[in-house]
Amino acid sequence: MYDRLIFKLSDENSNIVSLPENQFPLKVSECIKSDYLRKEETSLPVVSEIDLLRHFVLLSNKNHHLQKGFYPLGSCTMKYNPVINEDVSSNPKFTKLHPYQDGDDVQGILQIMYELQDMLLKVTGFSKISLQPVAGAHGEFTGMMIISDYFKRKNENRTKILIPDSAHGTNPASATLSGFKAVQIKSDQNGEIDLEDLEKNMDENTAGIMITNPNTLGIFESRIEKISHIVHSKGGLIYMDGANMNALMGIVKPGKIGFDILHLNLHKTFSTPHGGGGPGAGGVAVVESLKDFLPPYIVKFENGKYSLDYPEKSIGSLHSFYGNVNIMVRAWAYLKVMGRDGLSEASKMAIVNANYIKRKLQDIYDLPYKNETMHEVVFSGRKHKKDYNVTTLDIAKRLLDYGFHAPTVYFPLIVSEAIMIEPTETESKETLDSFIVAMKKIDEEAKSDPEKVKSAPTSTPISRPDDIYALKNLFVNWYRENNG
Ligand SMILES: *Cc1c(COP(=O)(O)O)cnc(C)c1O
Repeated sequence: MYDRLIFKLSDENSNIVSLPENQFPLKVSECIKSDYLRKEETSLPVVSEIDLLRHFVLLSNKNHHLQKGFYPLGSCTMKYNPVINEDVSSNPKFTKLHPYQDGDDVQGILQIMYELQDMLLKVTGFSKISLQPVAGAHGEFTGMMIISDYFKRKNENRTKILIPDSAHGTNPASATLSGFKAVQIKSDQNGEIDLEDLEKNMDENTAGIMITNPNTLGIFESRIEKISHIVHSKGGLIYMDGANMNALMGIVKPGKIGFDILHLNLHKTFSTPHGGGGPGAGGVAVVESLKDFLPPYIVKFENGKYSLDYPEKSIGSLHSFYGNVNIMVRAWAYLKVMGRDGLSEASKMAIVNANYIKRKLQDIYDLPYKNETMHEVVFSGRKHKKDYNVTTLDIAKRLLDYGFHAPTVYFPLIVSEAIMIEPTETESKETLDSFIVAMKKIDEEAKSDPEKVKSAPTSTPISRPDDIYALKNLFVNWYRENNG
């Protein structure tokens, strides 16, 4: 009976809610202007507390989440989020704070943010960081604004930003939103930036390049020194998309190998539940020469007090107050628990896990880039599409029947029928093996019974929604249209 919309469970006559009489002397209509009052009763469902609870627990079980199963969504780093982070961040001493409180009353949380800045600078090798941006893409936008202001102050008119063709879609979007023209750079046969194409396009009108490292193929851009020389010798800056820092923590410091600006996705690399669309945190770190352009960050004065401060030429605030503080507390707890050795161990395990899956599946699924991968691996379903008319989408849907979340599919764009798998460091060998078995079974099914794969999933509440219709018509509308 709980397998229904909550409106269907509703029983107006059930008399299960007892609210006390209104004790206030004023009526609502005397306090609120009539324009703002409802004209009709709202249609809220009437259900008992236990039914309400069961309804939502059932719904949450229909959803795939990390507590329920493996979530190999490439690029997203769906690692396990230690419960201690939740414990710390949900402490009322943090959650009941208000950003308008006097600075003297909130020194504790400011200290935590300051310590987090400090730890992240140690991990990344940069000189200053602002934690204010609230997403990776927001961090990219911040970085582009810094680059834009930097050249404006130098009276240099630089209009272009170079972006490799393997980049995440947010990169060209951020560059364009900040007023630059995004120019695409090719990848070579190894999946790294094509140096010839880079040299051809890097000129005095180009502000710089955005590089994801390891890139979205999971491959480390090994020629950073050369890239740095090409871009810096023409006066450009190098932005690093740090969404894949999960492969580098405790091993490589981007600030020491030629990058000028970096954003972190605290919600990917430094745990935090992520995947439902937020909230996140996309701190931006810079080298010494760019530190005066940052959005506000926490400073510590000589008297030991902490405060949010704007550097000299700051591009200004990118969010109200401090950003998503709750996510910062989680990242702080994560870093404190892991320590330096824990972080490098985590990165190494993430790399081992991805390479384990790669070795076990590379003879079964097409592997377009065969060189060393880091924390994720990108297969292609093109062989399966050609031989059995089974597409990557079909394979992804069939995985749901085996109890797994699908990998990222059809990204990066340079791989046709892409299947991008990121296991993360937090999964056991048993979990990886059961995923590998499922991928092998799907391959066998594609040969022997392709229809089975093409009609998957059959074990989920709905099978294959019309994606485009669903995108354009929220379910609420469908419900109204069909239920009056
Ligand atoms: C996730 C991701 C982003 C965007 O980060 P959001 O926090 O989702 O805005 C950018 N680049 C890469 C490579 C990513 O994986």
